[in-house]
Amino acid sequence: MSRLPTYEDVVAAAARIDGHAHQTPVLRSSTLDARLGAQVFFKCENFQRMGAFKFRGAFNALSRFDAAQRRAGVITFSSGNHAQAIALAARLQGIAALILMPLDAPQAKIEATRGYGAEVVLFDRFQQDREAMGRALAAERGMTLIPPFDHADVISGQGTAGKELFEQVGALDYLFVCLGGGGLLSGCALAARAVSPHCRVIGVEPEAGNDAQQSFRSGQIVTIATPRTIADGAQTQALGALTFAIIRRDVDDVVTASDAQLVDAMRFFAERMKIIVEPTGCLAAAAVMQGTLPLAGKRVGVIVSGGNVDLQRFAQLVAQP
Ligand SMILES: *Cc1c(COP(=O)(O)O)cnc(C)c1O
Repeated sequence: MSRLPTYEDVVAAAARIDGHAHQTPVLRSSTLDARLGAQVFFKCENFQRMGAFKFRGAFNALSRFDAAQRRAGVITFSSGNHAQAIALAARLQGIAALILMPLDAPQAKIEATRGYGAEVVLFDRFQQDREAMGRALAAERGMTLIPPFDHADVISGQGTAGKELFEQVGALDYLFVCLGGGGLLSGCALAARAVSPHCRVIGVEPEAGNDAQQSFRSGQIVTIATPRTIADGAQTQALGALTFAIIRRDVDDVVTASDAQLVDAMRFFAERMKIIVEPTGCLAAAAVMQGTLPLAGKRVGVIVSGGNVDLQRFAQLVAQP
């Protein structure tokens, strides 16, 4: 296992992405605050470049390439947002990008990735091992593989979302973070531990795929079959070695949200706050909106991780009774 990133790496990443990534806004809802008796701060990464926090980690990772790596290009595999993030960051830095994407990824994400100038190779994620395919292609073409979460530069880049939130709102009692492979959660946990040490950091993953909750509770990485959930950005089968090590050390708990709760949160964001949030981007908010956690009187941060959803799919989901 390579070295675990630290908060100093998050600070260095913030300097690298400064002027390239957006500083995203923090939104509030007085309706929700009144309902929970809490102060909730939504860090809106749906307004990040390419529509999700993943631009932060991708741009940071590519910024660290040497001249030979820049010439050979970058390769990655992703269910969508990491692909777009690598594609856009690569274009901005003049680096060629090859992206392995699942056949059933939202069409908007596949189109957007191609639109950013990347070469896209599709695979069947219920049949083929994307990591093996990625490694083989990387070796064949001499490209550098930047995985979606288990990489020190990706983790420290994602952590800048949390760092920025604390800078915008000050110390928090709780920070809820959407959780797939754990890049965002582990990076944000590094920031929380450094700048708001009493903040309880909670990861929220899909109920249908609670591998991280099982891993967190058992102390060992648990691998599951690809879960079927509308949270397509969090259909990971297992945490990574780096993300798990940080999550074990710096995260306080992992909870879950059901697909129905994600849809409720999407509706709340659209109706009350006038923002489009993709299902995966609602994970952390859904846990908070359930109203079952002891949040009264607390200052609560929520990372809204992304907003990339086909409009048709969005309409279908929110129209369900
Ligand atoms: C990738 C992604 C996640 C999960 O992030 P990890 O770093 O894999 O835990 C959550 N929300 C959105 C919108 C994403 O694109």
